[in-house]
Amino acid sequence: MPDWLGLSPAAFRCLMAHHFRRPGMDSFLMSGRELPKNRLDEVEDLVRLMLMGKAGDSPSEVWMAHIVAAGCMAAEHLWRDLGLWSREDLTALMRRNFPTLAALNVKDMKWKRFLYKQLCEADGIDSCRAPSCEICMDYHACFGPEH
Ligand code: SF4
Repeated sequence: MPDWLGLSPAAFRCLMAHHFRRPGMDSFLMSGRELPKNRLDEVEDLVRLMLMGKAGDSPSEVWMAHIVAAGCMAAEHLWRDLGLWSREDLTALMRRNFPTLAALNVKDMKWKRFLYKQLCEADGIDSCRAPSCEICMDYHACFGPEH
């Protein structure tokens, strides 16, 4: 993850105050990495997508959208890049923060794949090489266990 989990320093401090009421954790979350500058449009698209499906219960949902989008810039499984224990944790996070969006993931698609597929569909792009998932050679990239 990038510094401050991909948030601005001010947003990160708001998040910490909101959830933990503990100042002074900045250095703990300084990885020395930045969001890739050539992918900021992609980050914004992901954030917008998640916010369209947010619960509307907490300001934390906005921070979480930015954090999840920042995690999507990394190369591993999204739950792992976010520092979670499993895909189930990420599923719980997505359902809690972005319930209407998460409800669309009826087949338990891997979350990063799911988010990008939503973006493609919104732009009218069919990114799939097969007419259905059942006969697709990329099936295991989209579904199945993540270890
Ligand atoms: S399994 Fe294949 S057809 Fe299904 S969403 Fe993934 S890429 Fe598309």
